[in-house]
Amino acid sequence: MPLLVMKFGGTSVANIDRIRRAAKRVGVEVARGYDVIVIVSAMSGKTNELVGWVNETAPFYDAREYDAVVSSGENVTAGLMALTLQEMDVPARSWQGWQVPLRTNSAHSAARIESIPTENITSKFAQGMRVAVIAGFQGISPENRITTLGRGGSDTTAVAFAAAFGAERCDIYTDVDGVYTTDPRIASKARKLDRIAFEEMLELASLGAKVLQTRSVELAMRYNVKLRVLSSFGEQSDEAGTLVCSEEDIVESNVVNGIAYSRDEAKMTLVSVADRPGIAAAIFGPLSDAGVNVDMIIQNISEEGRTDMTFSCPVDQVKRAERALSEAKAAGELNFHDLIADTDVAKISAVGIGMRSQSGVAARMFRTLRDEGINIKVIATSEIKISVLIDRKYMELAVQALHDAFELEKPG
Ligand code: ADP
Ligand code: ASP
Ligand code: MG
Repeated sequence: MPLLVMKFGGTSVANIDRIRRAAKRVGVEVARGYDVIVIVSAMSGKTNELVGWVNETAPFYDAREYDAVVSSGENVTAGLMALTLQEMDVPARSWQGWQVPLRTNSAHSAARIESIPTENITSKFAQGMRVAVIAGFQGISPENRITTLGRGGSDTTAVAFAAAFGAERCDIYTDVDGVYTTDPRIASKARKLDRIAFEEMLELASLGAKVLQTRSVELAMRYNVKLRVLSSFGEQSDEAGTLVCSEEDIVESNVVNGIAYSRDEAKMTLVSVADRPGIAAAIFGPLSDAGVNVDMIIQNISEEGRTDMTFSCPVDQVKRAERALSEAKAAGELNFHDLIADTDVAKISAVGIGMRSQSGVAARMFRTLRDEGINIKVIATSEIKISVLIDRKYMELAVQALHDAFELEKPG
């Protein structure tokens, strides 16, 4: 029988009523003749609550126990979804990650999927089961410990299952009806895209657009999974939503196709470090060892052999970064006068494959921010994106102004 993967995010399984609504949608596909693999997230807010409990208990927690705790939200929704389907007379059962077993590496809290054996689930389909409900976001390490795939990781579970089982499509049901030019919660003029290229979606996701986890887009691109984002609320035609597809399948495109933001950034400055060979290694080595994800970096010009080094990282890693750098200083591996953390910054990015062939995008972005009186603290560019770090209080304003400046409300 043909097979579909359907993934329901947190808001789509937020309570029993919503689970019933999602299950009905699954029932429609089963009635059409599909076997279905359903991937569920935890109820909305649940994972945040669990993360909060871990942080309250142990600020520098053991990541293995973090995963044991935060993976649990998905166990609940997987069981409830299977029960709901059974109540509708749809033969269904649930699997936790380890039962599949979805094998990952040992990178706790950001684990990568290594394999998904299909026999176990396929044999149940062969015996008449119509829906396999899988707890998203979780797997099992070579050490037999529970792992999680990073926040938003159920998207990646879904795409990985679609690839492993050769599913006809992977449908990601969420609380918006597709991928927009920017977060529709921030810019009312945001426009839904019928299609978006993998490359652009990859950038948008990695720059903060929560709608898909970055890794899920990478996997879909690599294994050519037909990936669709659509709403689990309201009626839906088969054409609705956004298709994430190859660049060649996109007819019209703007120079900039999306604006992403990331609220949870921090800017850290090491004041007065010695400007000598090896200084970057002395700073970023310990940060990397401590699991700090450094993003943008700037080194100021040096004066009398000393310079300032600024970098950005996720705001919840500031404590980790401070500790790693202080320890390196105490060990005599590094010397700096001061370490200043600015935790009130946000990153705004403009993304578009059209940037490869058109110049002037950066200048337009900078002018737009200038006209709004927004100061740029750090800039980073790559082939198809430009990112700036600004004061967080201007985040919404910057997104809206850039959306207007690049006329994203108009189709390309
Ligand atoms: P789920 O719980 O279903 O996984 P998420 O909260 O992870 O949902 O992702 C959906 C959210 O992503 C939307 O509610 C929206 O606020 C946000 N979002 C950010 N950028 C975009 C974008 N460009 N298009 C659509 N949604 C976006
Ligand atoms: N529940 C997890 C999270 O909130 C995974 C997911 O929803 O994709 O990050
Ligand atoms: Mg999500």
